[in-house]
Amino acid sequence: CGIVGYVGDRPAGGRPLEVAMGGLARLEYRGYDSAGVAVITGNGDGLATAKKAGKLKNLAALLEADPLPAGTASIGHTRWATHGAPNDVNAHPHLSEDGALAVIHNGIVENFASLREELVGAGVALTSETDTEVVAHLVSRAYDDGKDLTDAVRTVALRLRGTFTILAVHADSPRTVVGARHDSPLVVGLGEGENFLGSDVAAFIAHTKEAMELGQDQVVTITPTSVDVVDFAGNPVEAKRYTVTWDAAA
Ligand code: GLU
Repeated sequence: CGIVGYVGDRPAGGRPLEVAMGGLARLEYRGYDSAGVAVITGNGDGLATAKKAGKLKNLAALLEADPLPAGTASIGHTRWATHGAPNDVNAHPHLSEDGALAVIHNGIVENFASLREELVGAGVALTSETDTEVVAHLVSRAYDDGKDLTDAVRTVALRLRGTFTILAVHADSPRTVVGARHDSPLVVGLGEGENFLGSDVAAFIAHTKEAMELGQDQVVTITPTSVDVVDFAGNPVEAKRYTVTWDAAA
């Protein structure tokens, strides 16, 4: 029910995880049944995830017992289960089979059953009961076919029916987070040497009030120093900047 994304060029360290967990805490008001995070651990050498059913404090306890390595980018998710019980396995992020790609999703993929069948037919082993997991495998396959992460997300978004905000990260692109939206909100937060994504501005308001609105059916790619938006056909879009007027303490 809540989404956070972060990428920064500050000397790696705890900031990506801090931003993700802080953002999720600010999105708690939306309600959720599980939470999870993924951190890109550096120079293309890996991706680490932690996820847990229940309140954010359960995830925080897991992270304390079993810390994630420092990183360059992060994604964070609170889940309101629609497909599959609210347990640790069904919590997001969902990973590709090689573990290099992670996806989080708010919304519902209505045609997930036929997409799942297609993947099973291609020999993919699915591990959760969610509608979301198919997205991770589809994006991973598009990526492995030679598309960059943005194009992989975009072409998969074209195949999804239903409502979605999706974020994807790949271990090979340690300074990139890609997001897509259809009938579900996604906002960009603009920082200095770092950028943010959120299902609403509460996700990043503690760090920046400079924001960018995304339109319907758009894909955004953030790096520490760039924000690029395209529509689902791949055409560049000029997104509108604005300053959030409410107080970070609210
Ligand atoms: N449909 C997805 C699931 O059940 C995402 C739910 C949400 O919006 O958090 O896992």
